Amino acid sequence: MTMNNLLTVDVEDWFHICGVSEYITKESWPELESRVFQNTLKILEIFESHDVTATFFVLGYVAEKHPELVRQIRARGHEVATHGYGHNRVYTLTRHAFVQDIRKAVKIIFGITQQDKIGYRAPEWSIRDDSLWALEVLKQEDLAYDSSMAPLPVIGNPHYPRIPYERTLANGILWEFPPLVKRTPLVNLPIGGGWGLRVFPYGMIRSEISKLNQRGHPALIYLHPREFDRDCPQIPLPWIKRFVLNARVESTQKRLARLLNDFRFTSIGAYLDSIS
Ligand SMILES: [Zn+2]
Repeated sequence: MTMNNLLTVDVEDWFHICGVSEYITKESWPELESRVFQNTLKILEIFESHDVTATFFVLGYVAEKHPELVRQIRARGHEVATHGYGHNRVYTLTRHAFVQDIRKAVKIIFGITQQDKIGYRAPEWSIRDDSLWALEVLKQEDLAYDSSMAPLPVIGNPHYPRIPYERTLANGILWEFPPLVKRTPLVNLPIGGGWGLRVFPYGMIRSEISKLNQRGHPALIYLHPREFDRDCPQIPLPWIKRFVLNARVESTQKRLARLLNDFRFTSIGAYLDSIS
């Protein structure tokens, strides 16, 4: 049997970027041109043409503004999960503020899909050593699983596991789904999404996925709607942010098509069902 890998999308607009409050304030969000609907439809069409289903972590702010988009995602057979409401890095929030953010986001999704089990992904993989308390909140709030801990320096911790695993918490067990990374002697490389998926050689990414699959583990890929937008508005950000957002962004679609041709993918929810 061919191994299934995990295909995920963080459904947010082009201006939902962490750590840029000097350039775009939250107060300005409602005035900015929303492009998430049309860009997510492009992704849905690509997935449909490859007959593949995925997990869509929809930002609460987006779900509230575009309930029809959430319905479309669901109607096409994909899994709807949550990316929180306000796109704040978890380690900048108090426990109380995180609980409020999660409840608001889950309530909006539930109001649209009536789903009782919803998975979670933090903005910018921001559950790390200084915000591990958030996992207990997710369990307490009955989220289905988490996908917020990157085995990468700075944004996560290179010592975190690189494959899906069950985390034992004070209040129960929670599945964790890390993004695909490539281990090198110096540093783990972020090849599963964002700039890494676009910039590193495709052969390197393919061989890493094959290696994981041969050992019986799925690789997790993540995408953003803005990566499918040729006319994405540009913000005058520091060069490092611009690189992360824009480097080889035109190659996303081609990369995705190759991945979908070379490997099998499914949603996290379907994967969990298949192993339980
Ligand atoms: Zn995000």
